[in-house]
Amino acid sequence: MSESVVQAIQEVRQRIQAAEAAAGRPDGSVRLLAVSKTFPAAAVREAYAAGQRAFGENYVQELQGKAAELADLAIEWHFIGPLQSNKTRIIAETAHWVHSIERLKIAQRLSEQRPTQLPPLQVCVQVNVSGEDSKSGCAPEDARALAHAVAALPQLQLRGLMCIPEPTEDANRLAGQFALLQRLQDELRADGLALDTVSMGMSADMAQAIAAGSTMVRVGTAIFGARHYHS
Ligand SMILES: *Cc1c(COP(=O)(O)O)cnc(C)c1O
Repeated sequence: MSESVVQAIQEVRQRIQAAEAAAGRPDGSVRLLAVSKTFPAAAVREAYAAGQRAFGENYVQELQGKAAELADLAIEWHFIGPLQSNKTRIIAETAHWVHSIERLKIAQRLSEQRPTQLPPLQVCVQVNVSGEDSKSGCAPEDARALAHAVAALPQLQLRGLMCIPEPTEDANRLAGQFALLQRLQDELRADGLALDTVSMGMSADMAQAIAAGSTMVRVGTAIFGARHYHS
């Protein structure tokens, strides 16, 4: 087993703990999702051996392949990428969580296609908190209606909201975007939805996300190293 993945996971756990403490939040209030996209199944095995159980993937075929290859492990698979309607069935049958719900039609398909012998698919609504055209997610003003509609679907369980903020060095801008997601989550809870998940924070901004209320950080690079995309 390579020292590096195991060591990196330990360092990330320490960073999470330090950020929880700095924000005056209880130890263990933030879950770590290890984002393994582009890394081979062997890397996931190493992280698993270090005690990591939740893994995130962005590409449908890649998740499907790794889930099959790693079927001997008790992994909780999280789909965090853009999802097209012709790929929903694979995700409904393979994933435990989907963080990237941005349209009701996709959520309806996932609910219809979720095998009834499996527990409901755990989902988050993704919100475009930066307003960038290039970004996935529903508009902040549409989040409330979409979340209520998703929460009503029988084979889905809405757990909360997810965002990918604008990549920026400006700490105030970043904090404002995280705060927007947290405010939307608070509104939904005030409406009576039982939500427990705010999925925000990646390798570069996990401490700020935790300060802003994140309950799940999605960390790839800081665990597995830099990604190399092949065409
Ligand atoms: C790739 C990815 C991550 C992980 O990003 P890092 O900067 O490598 O930690 C988190 N969330 C989403 C949605 C991603 O696509």
